[in-house]
Parts: sequence; structure tokens; C-alpha cells
Amino acid sequence: MAVQPRGKVTIDAEECKGCGLCVASCPPQCLELAPELNANGIHPARCNAHICTGCGICFYCCPEPGAITVYRMKAKSPTAKEGEHAPTL
Ligand code: SF4
Ligand code: SF4
Repeated sequence: MAVQPRGKVTIDAEECKGCGLCVASCPPQCLELAPELNANGIHPARCNAHICTGCGICFYCCPEPGAITVYRMKAKSPTAKEGEHAPTL
């Protein structure tokens, strides 16, 4: 059975300062620094293919307000259709 993500994270590349704290802190190693540069000449963090648990550790360790947003998925109800998850803040 495939593992379902319990969270989703978005990163504002222009707010990110490329410090790498979120990358180092993510337990399942969902984050990495992108090879591309943002408008400030910084390698911003981005998500990779690993499964996000929605733990929020990256959000709490990021020094830049607004750079990271974490969404936690509601548990699927027994009657939900395949792939139906409702993100919550
Ligand atoms: S919410 Fe947790 S699992 Fe998801 S990217 Fe952030 S630290 Fe990693
Ligand atoms: S902790 Fe924040 S500022 Fe640092 S790399 Fe991650 S998103 Fe960017």
C-alpha cells in the first residue's frame, strides 16, 4: 500500500534566504536547496519527492516569516474517494 502524505509545504523562493535550517531539520528529508538562484542570488529551499508528514518543524525553525507554509491533511474518511484530502492550515 502506498504511503499517503500527511502534509504539504510551500516555500516562497523570494522570501527564502537560503540558510538551510529547514533542510537540516526536516526528519524525512523533504527539503533541499534548489540549484537555481532567486532574484537575490540565493539558492532557495524547495520540496523534493519525499513524503511530508506535516510536522511543522521546518516552519518553526525558519527565521524568515512567510517563507514557509505548512498544510496538514485531514485524515481520509472511510467514505472519501481515492486521493481526496482536504488541506488545513
Ligand atoms: S512539515 Fe515536517 S516533514 Fe514536512 S517539510 Fe516541514 S519538516 Fe519536513
Ligand atoms: S529555513 Fe527559511 S530562510 Fe532558511 S532555507 Fe529554509 S525556507 Fe529558506
